[in-house]
Amino acid sequence: MITRKTLTFDHPLLRDLEHPCFEARGAHDGPRLTLMAGVHGCEYSSIAAATRFMRELDTAELSGTIVALPIASLESFRRRSPFVVPIDGKNLNRSFPGDPDGGYTDALAAAILQTLIAPADAVIDLHGGDMVESLEPFAIYESDESEALAQAFGLPYVTRAKAPSGMTCSAAGGPAIIAEAGGIGQLEEAAVELLVDGTRNALRHLGMLPGGAEPRSVTTLGEHRFVNGVRGGWWETAVATGASVREGESLGVIKDLFGDVVETVASPQDGVVLWQTTSPAVGENGLLLGLA
Ligand SMILES: [Zn+2]
Repeated sequence: MITRKTLTFDHPLLRDLEHPCFEARGAHDGPRLTLMAGVHGCEYSSIAAATRFMRELDTAELSGTIVALPIASLESFRRRSPFVVPIDGKNLNRSFPGDPDGGYTDALAAAILQTLIAPADAVIDLHGGDMVESLEPFAIYESDESEALAQAFGLPYVTRAKAPSGMTCSAAGGPAIIAEAGGIGQLEEAAVELLVDGTRNALRHLGMLPGGAEPRSVTTLGEHRFVNGVRGGWWETAVATGASVREGESLGVIKDLFGDVVETVASPQDGVVLWQTTSPAVGENGLLLGLA
C-alpha cells in the first residue's frame, strides 16, 4: 500500500513547511529505505524521478518500506533558487548533519536527518545538475559500506566524496548514495528514466525488489574533486562535460568584463569532468567544475 502524507517539522523555523511525502509498505518484510530528491530545488529530472518511481511502484513486489520525499527544499523549489536555500543562502547539501540551534538551512538539515535519514537502513538521494550546471550521470558516496549500493545504481560513473562532505550521504549510518542525472534547469525524460531505472536496480541490490541487481557498465573513478577559480568575472569552459582531461590541461579561462583573459584554469589532476558550471557569471573563488 502507498499512502500520501504531508510531512511537517516541529522546529519553529520550519513550522510552515508542508512537504508532500509518499510512504510505501511492502507485502513482505524488509529494510526501511528513504528516497529523497529536491535537496537542490531546481534539479527537476531528479524530483520527477522520485515521484515517478513511487507512483509506478507495485508494493506487492516490495519487501520493506519506503519513505519518499520528492522535494526536500521546498523554498529552493518554489523560488527557483539554484544550489542554495534562498532564506539564508546556504547549500543544504553541504549542511549535514545540521544543527537545530542554527539558522534555517542548518535546522532543516537536522530535521531531515532526524526524521528521514537516521531511521533508515539505506538512503538514496536523487540529484542532477542545477539550473546552471551540466552533468554526466554519476553516483557519489562517502562511506565504505555505501560503495556497493552506488555501483548497483548503475550510472556510468561512481566517485567518492571527500569526507566530511556535509552531503546527505555523509550523515547516514547505513549505506547512502547520491545519484545524479540531468541538468541546466531542464526536465529531461532520458535523465528521469536513468534515475528511475537506477533506483529500481538499487532496490534489487538491497533485496527490496525481486531478482537481484542487473549488471551495469560502471566506471569507478577516485575521489571527487571540486575545481574553483581564483578571479571572479566571465567563465568560459574549454572542455565538454564528460570529457577525460590530463593534469595541467586547460579547463577554460576566466575573463574580466572587458573580455581580457585574467586566469587560465589548469586541471589539478587526470580525470573525467563530471559536471561544470554553464553560466559565464562566476564570483571570486567560484566553483567551476567537478572531476574525479
Ligand atoms: Zn544537487
